[in-house]
Amino acid sequence: MTLLTEYIAACPDCDLLQRIGVLPSGATARCPRCGRVVASDKPNSLNRTLALAVAAIIALIVANVTPLMGLSAVGRHASTTILGGIVKMWREGQEITALLVALCSVVAPILYVGFMLVVLLAVRKPPAPRWIGALLRFSELSRPWVMVEVMMLGILVSLVKIADLATVNPGIGMFAVGALIVLLAAMTVSFDPREAWARIAWVDEPPRKGRSEAQDEPVRKGGGAGTEPTGRRMGLAACGACGLLARAAGRNDPGSCPRCGEILVLRRPGAIQRTWAFLIAASICYLPANLLPVMNTAMPGYAEADTIMSGVILLYESGSWPLALIVFVASIMIPLAKIIALAYLLVTVQFRRIESRPERIRVYRIIEVVGRWSMLDVFVVTFVVALVQLQPLMSVEPGAGVVFFAAVVVLTMLAAESFDPRLIWDENESEEDRKHD
Ligand SMILES: [Zn+2]
Ligand SMILES: [Zn+2]
Repeated sequence: MTLLTEYIAACPDCDLLQRIGVLPSGATARCPRCGRVVASDKPNSLNRTLALAVAAIIALIVANVTPLMGLSAVGRHASTTILGGIVKMWREGQEITALLVALCSVVAPILYVGFMLVVLLAVRKPPAPRWIGALLRFSELSRPWVMVEVMMLGILVSLVKIADLATVNPGIGMFAVGALIVLLAAMTVSFDPREAWARIAWVDEPPRKGRSEAQDEPVRKGGGAGTEPTGRRMGLAACGACGLLARAAGRNDPGSCPRCGEILVLRRPGAIQRTWAFLIAASICYLPANLLPVMNTAMPGYAEADTIMSGVILLYESGSWPLALIVFVASIMIPLAKIIALAYLLVTVQFRRIESRPERIRVYRIIEVVGRWSMLDVFVVTFVVALVQLQPLMSVEPGAGVVFFAAVVVLTMLAAESFDPRLIWDENESEEDRKHD
């Protein structure tokens, strides 16, 4: 049973107002201006996602309590779990990196799957209480930090790195991580948040027929450039949490969402300044991240400090050039490309350029998707360090560069999140609109 009816929404990426009808089974609606998917019909969305979430929580438990991989060299054995890797990094004095690895590999997945499970169970009997809306919001906020697939690639790279030194055996935990990746992806694909929000009680009294007041607003057909009906022009704000289109109380203080209670904004406040701040901080950290060693290897009569680049060369020389290429792209190219691309978006927005807007929104979407893969080397260092502890024969310690490297990844992710893609489309708005930003 679906509770969805026809409604008017503002595109989250370009703010264009559009009428979204009841979609045919399996159909997807895209924004006519920027191409963003604004709605898609997912048959039996809530039940399917619930089944996947139950399976995911089981895979998550197995992945965390069983060994990921084991190592044997000259009659000695060692094995590690995800938690073991985190604890080792902490003990080696890399507390910040350890916390970040814990967030992306354990905490965020538990929060995401756990909250989703509660939400999906609660919305089975509508209307679900309001606080369920808050849980749904938290689960969505934790999703970008769930990096299980990046961790998996990190584990594979560390296996190859260690394979030269000792015999490595994948453990049960690794297969559980593999299952978890598939289940998490399937959850994202099958879940329709609109369906869940429609079953959660409103913070304020819902308007009659379950439509917000803003839904009575006429949607003018866009004529030429500059007359396209956007939310901001019509004094309407799309809720950042539940997507409801609500009438803004005022331009400077639009009030809060009548459905979920989230503070409404017409554009993310201080988006340009914040993005610049994160971007500048990330560029500063990029230098030590690449110049300082990320891993120190010690063997009798032999010591080596590896930077990210020398690690790539080492992988290449050991014959695994595809992995060397992956690490090179993820660790060196992506962070740099992200910094340059975001700076380009900021400059073009600040100079109010109107050309190539579809290309720029595509650049922004690519940045959002690929940014997380830069965490790869942080995971590689964590698992190599955790596993290669065969004192006095051989040991590996994290280097000072790894914390700067992790900082670059987090800062560029925060920069991408603070940017408001709707600014790209705002150039045609009048001076009057801009003055109120
Ligand atoms: Zn759009
Ligand atoms: Zn809302």
